[in-house]
This record gives sequence, C-alpha cells and structure tokens, in this order.
Amino acid sequence: MPFDLGKRRFYVFGLVLYPQSFIYMTALLLIPAHSLFLFTTVAGRLWCGYARPQTVYTELFRWVERRIEGDRIATGLWTGFTFVGSFTPIHSLAAEVGRLALGPWETFWVLFYRFATYGNAGFMREQVCKYMCPYARFQSAMLDKDTLIITYDQACGEPRGSRSKKADPKALNLGACIDCNLCVQVCPTGIDIRKGLQYECIGCAACIDVCDDVMKKMNYAPGLVRYDTQNGLAQGLTASQRLRRVFRPRVIVYSVILLLICSALGVRIALRSPFKVDVVRDRAALARLVEDCYVENVYRLQVMNATERLQHYRVTADGLPGLPTQARPSAFSRRYSVRSLRPS
Ligand code: SF4
Ligand code: SF4
Repeated sequence: MPFDLGKRRFYVFGLVLYPQSFIYMTALLLIPAHSLFLFTTVAGRLWCGYARPQTVYTELFRWVERRIEGDRIATGLWTGFTFVGSFTPIHSLAAEVGRLALGPWETFWVLFYRFATYGNAGFMREQVCKYMCPYARFQSAMLDKDTLIITYDQACGEPRGSRSKKADPKALNLGACIDCNLCVQVCPTGIDIRKGLQYECIGCAACIDVCDDVMKKMNYAPGLVRYDTQNGLAQGLTASQRLRRVFRPRVIVYSVILLLICSALGVRIALRSPFKVDVVRDRAALARLVEDCYVENVYRLQVMNATERLQHYRVTADGLPGLPTQARPSAFSRRYSVRSLRPS
C-alpha cells in the first residue's frame, strides 16, 4: 500500500486514490478497525499475537538475533529504508542510496524509522504492549465469556506441584501442572497465565507450545494451557457447542456493520468517476465583446484524471444553439481556460 507523497497519490491494492478521494481512505481505515472488533470478540487478541507490526518486527529481530547475533541495527536500517519507500518511489530511493545521494529529508526519515523500529522491536519489545498500547486497555470491552482466549485449565492443573515423571499424580493428590514455571519464562510480557486472563497477555500462544511439550514429556494429555472460552472451561462445552456460540448478537452486529461498510465502499469504487472537473468562472473578466460580435465568457477548467491511463477529454458548452468553445493552456500546465462564445 505505497503512498507517493510527491505526486499526492495513494496506491491501495491497485486502486489509485487522490487527496480528493479521502472518503475512500476513511472507509479503508474503518474496515480494519471493525475487523479488529469482530475478530477480538470471536477469538481474543489474534491481531496482537499474530499480525500486528510490533509482534512481527519483534519476531523478525529475534530471528536475526538467533541467526546473526548483533545485527539488529542493520535490520532497523533496512526497515527504515523500506518504510520510506512506501512514501516515495523506492526504485529512485534505492538508486540514490547507491549513489550516496540521498536528500536531507530522506536521510532523516530513513534514520528516524531505523531508530524507531530498533527502539520498538529490538529494545522495548513487549514493554510497548504493557505500558504504551491503548488496545490492551479497552479490549476487555470486546471480550465476553464466549470469546476464545488463551487460558489455563485450573480444574485439571491444580493443585500444582513438582513430581517425578513416574509418579502417579492422583496418588500424590496433584493436578497436571508440574510447576516448572516454563510458561512464565517464555511469556514475552512476563505474566503467569495460571493466574487467569490478564490485560498484558498478547495472545502469542508461546505458553501453550511450551506447556504441551512439558505435558508430552510427562506423558500427560496436552491442553493444560490452551485456547478455550471462559464458558467452555466452566461448563465443559464441546468444540461444536463452542462453535455454535460464535454466532451471538454482538458478533452478528459487528459482522453486519462490517459487511455494510465493505459493500458501500465496493459500490462507491465501482461507480467512481474516472475523472474530476472543477469549473471556475474567471473573476478577472466578466463577459466581454470580442471580434465578430461575439460575447466571450472565460472559465477556468481543472480536469483531474483519476486513473493511471492516458485519457482524452472533449470540452463542449451548450445552452445556446451553435455555442462554440475555445481552449487554451493557462500558465499552469494542467489547467485550461475555456472561452465560450455566443453571438451578441
Ligand atoms: S508450563 Fe505447564 S506445567 Fe509448567 S508451570 Fe506452566 S502450566 Fe504448569
Ligand atoms: S506467553 Fe501466554 S500468557 Fe504470555 S503473552 Fe503469550 S499467550 Fe499470553
């Protein structure tokens, strides 16, 4: 979704938008916002755990750390370059980098985004989620007891306690949790999922994976920490019962609103005019008499081609029989002054 700020054009999945088409941008922002509400209501913080840039970049930085320890700064620089390439043609940006001929603003923004991404994903990481992100604070308004969340099965896990692999937990009056603390150690926000749902949980599922590994080693059933709903845990619902509860009123309302926004945007885009015209009467001269006893009226015509293709336009005027027009380029290359002439 690159933005060409110089030419004031925004490319969104093949669609070319201009500042005058801001209504489309608004709708395009409303769609992810409502999708976020919908998906959070159905399945908790899917966005935070799997898709949001903070998580993706942090995983990327961790990957770099694991493979090439110490090269986080280069990853930040590359991110800064590609980010600036979203707002300016990236081919010419790459050529300027190759010639060491970057302009002062481009250099500033490449370095700025490099420090921003390094600071976010290489240094602060999940502290951003804990202390800066407002989404964690208001997500509880979207969750209910039928939302799929990452949760610890208290009934199965408690009382927790260490034991040998061969020991029978029932004989020791213990649950499945061996209190190894690995789920806390792998948690990027450092919380203990066994204390229940907490706003710091970003839904990354790292605790599920590590706990399943522990259960496997102990020859216990997996799923002590798992995706489940609060009602599912409390009432012991089966998977099909939980699935039926997905279609509840708030999910249906969010889905209908989302569908309406998508449909309205689709219809507006399909019916969009391929050009825009502004006609402004020349304020310097009202009607005046010219040769051959004609009265001349001058209008300034601004035609904007809203497509990426070459377009031809024919300008005509009507209202009087045989009304001729003459067009001449004005001082501005894309503007034309149009004279409509009529017999006096
Ligand atoms: S990883 Fe599983 S077994 Fe270990 S402390 Fe966490 S919940 Fe208990
Ligand atoms: S490791 Fe578990 S408790 Fe920690 S953030 Fe990820 S999903 Fe939440």
